[in-house]
Amino acid sequence: MPTSPSDHPNRPEAGERAVSEVYDLAVVGAGPAGLAAAVTAAGLGLRCALLDAGPRPGGQYYRHPAPGLGAVHPERLHHGWAAFAALSSRLKVHTAAGRITYLTGHQVWTAERGEIWRLHATLGPEVGAHAVVRARTVLLATGAYERQLPFPGWTLPGVVTAGGAQAMLKSGLVLPGRRVVVAGSGPLLLAAASSLVSAGATVPAVVEATSYLHYAKGLPTLAANPAKLAEGAGHGATLLRHGVRLRRSSAVVEAHGTERVTAVTVARLDRDWRPVPGSERRIACDALAVGHGLLPQIELATELGARTRETPDGSVALAVDSGMRTSLAGLWAAGETCGVGGADLALAEGELAARVIAGRPVPPALRARRERRRAFAELMAAAHRPGPAWTEWLRPDTDVCRCEEVPAARIREAVEELGAGDARTVKLLTRAGMGWCQGRMCGPAVACLSGDDRPRADSRPLACPVPLAQLAGPEPS
Ligand SMILES: Cc1cc2nc3c(=O)[nH]c(=O)nc-3n(C[C@H](O)[C@H](O)[C@H](O)COP(=O)(O)OP(=O)(O)OC[C@H]3O[C@@H](n4cnc5c(N)ncnc54)[C@H](O)[C@@H]3O)c2cc1C
Repeated sequence: MPTSPSDHPNRPEAGERAVSEVYDLAVVGAGPAGLAAAVTAAGLGLRCALLDAGPRPGGQYYRHPAPGLGAVHPERLHHGWAAFAALSSRLKVHTAAGRITYLTGHQVWTAERGEIWRLHATLGPEVGAHAVVRARTVLLATGAYERQLPFPGWTLPGVVTAGGAQAMLKSGLVLPGRRVVVAGSGPLLLAAASSLVSAGATVPAVVEATSYLHYAKGLPTLAANPAKLAEGAGHGATLLRHGVRLRRSSAVVEAHGTERVTAVTVARLDRDWRPVPGSERRIACDALAVGHGLLPQIELATELGARTRETPDGSVALAVDSGMRTSLAGLWAAGETCGVGGADLALAEGELAARVIAGRPVPPALRARRERRRAFAELMAAAHRPGPAWTEWLRPDTDVCRCEEVPAARIREAVEELGAGDARTVKLLTRAGMGWCQGRMCGPAVACLSGDDRPRADSRPLACPVPLAQLAGPEPS
């Protein structure tokens, strides 16, 4: 199985464009959903291409150290390693037998519809090559990225995202600091805090913006998902053992420091996430891991007009039917692209989609597992929906768009004095969202500040930065 961008035999060289054979199925994303889909489809006789921007399979959840780091027990940073090991060995078998062509380092920047789909992938500016992968059907399993809500000091060195802290640990075997406050909202906070303390960091507090009370509204859903409860309880027990304090209905409203973060201010929140005056307290730390949930990464489909739905946490996901079909003929989706719900849901949806694509029946137990996990995901999303008053954490000089350094005051001026009524107009007037990340960091915050917080799918012709030479070069036949 190829493990690095250089060892695939059909890989285009620098400056080349390569057009593939026509596969039965092209899977974009080799995380839990994409891996489960590819190995299931290959096992049912389909010839598959599996593309991923990264160098190794596993996606976010099964992220693991590069072989060169010499990790002796990478499984210790994971629960669910056995499932990944099983998927990896099936991938190896199918790759060796030519049923799966596994294309690492291929970032798909656009998809063209048709009887035969064409996925355009860049191998990056360093490699400077362009691959066109053709397939009769496509499954989108591109996962999610983190939602960031800015606050004063959020751009200081030492402030990382909660998923970023997990990624540093799981793939780089490094800690973001020795004394790390974990903050924001969502189940990733407990996972990140539990990994950090297990790896030797001190976590003075986990600061969760919600009260968890919403979970009480879904007792039957909780009871139907004992594995998810056990996962949460496992993290809880680890945190208890290490004396980590969980502060509910609270948020980090400021990070302090000059060269890097040295402390944070934590305030209690009311039910709209408005800081309660007088409740502030300072906690010393040398790192802050902060995230407010995840947003489905769906640009490749929304660019083509695929139907979307609003999820209970106010994000936008692809709308799919019970067979994981999107509204576009020939395009399926699985995992976080259909709404954030965790690795086990992603595995179930990947397998289910592959069975439907292969025209095989879906075992009732698989369908039931998917439905149980999806119901849990919706409950979780509703519980962690950001409150509308989080914007009161901002000061006029707080950068909201960190790529273009646009402060909150400039966005408010665009709305209140220049009459901008939506995020797009704010962007045109202030450049917020025009930088390298293309609004992935500041998009939700800018939309909220412009009073345009009705969730809307991003629709852009390029899903990632593409070297001009690849756009301008001759179209491969
Ligand atoms: C930063 C981060 C850290 C996380 N850490 C944890 C954790 O520690 N524990 C936990 O329970 N959950 C974690 N999650 C949640 C986790 O994403 C899911 O539970 C699970 O991994 C979802 O599986 P998936 O297959 O849908 O997506 P992912 O695992 O995200 O896989 C998506 C894959 O698609 C690839 N991809 C995306 N876009 C393209 C493109 N245009 N072209 C080619 N390839 C592309 C990515 O490289 C990635 O490998 C994390 C999420 C994020 C964003």
